[in-house]
Amino acid sequence: MTQIVQSEPGEIFDIELDENLKRANDLIAEENRKQLQKHGIRAIDVMGSVGAGKTSLIEQLVRLLKPRYRIAAFKGDLTSKIDYERIESLGIQAVQINTGRECHLDANLVKKALLKLDLTALDLLFIENVGNLICPADFPLGSDKRIVVISVTEGPYMVVKHPFIFADADVAVINKIDLARPMDVDTDKLAGDVRNINARTSVVLTNCRTGEGVKQVAAALGIDSAS
Ligand code: MG
Ligand code: ZN
Repeated sequence: MTQIVQSEPGEIFDIELDENLKRANDLIAEENRKQLQKHGIRAIDVMGSVGAGKTSLIEQLVRLLKPRYRIAAFKGDLTSKIDYERIESLGIQAVQINTGRECHLDANLVKKALLKLDLTALDLLFIENVGNLICPADFPLGSDKRIVVISVTEGPYMVVKHPFIFADADVAVINKIDLARPMDVDTDKLAGDVRNINARTSVVLTNCRTGEGVKQVAAALGIDSAS
């Protein structure tokens, strides 16, 4: 017999699920959204586990879109600056957001990071969230669109085990498809798992090392990449 233990409503002690905290975050996210809209900036929240390929995807999107758009990126990480240095080397405005012990970005950190940018000189903003597929779902940042990146090297159950983050995603990227066969992971099955959770989520297969599929990611975000 299967035995399941779960908390009842009102019995959750995780501070991240505190309703007041979520409301406070949502209010600031709304401010961020208005601020970005006022300047005609499209912001993309990029979520996914450590090693899925969030930074690689952003690098490829920047290379593809830089001829047409003025781009900046925020890099969320606990303490490291590795990704920031990768992105800064592409010659765009970048801001490192170190969250310390926090396992997700929140709207307040994004609000503070926005103060570091010249918003009048910007069209696109990529926000790389902290590597985590759970609580970022509960913390909208004020972005237009949310991408979730998973890779086949994480195994066949990444979607079904993280339903909340996919329920809220506009685009799901399945990365490292060149390794699907050696990993014995079925990308059609992963794509089907996403559609079962949210039929409106666009699913795109990529290899972010070569750039395969990156144009399709831009198209799925509604960003015209033709030069
Ligand atoms: Mg990264
Ligand atoms: Zn968290």
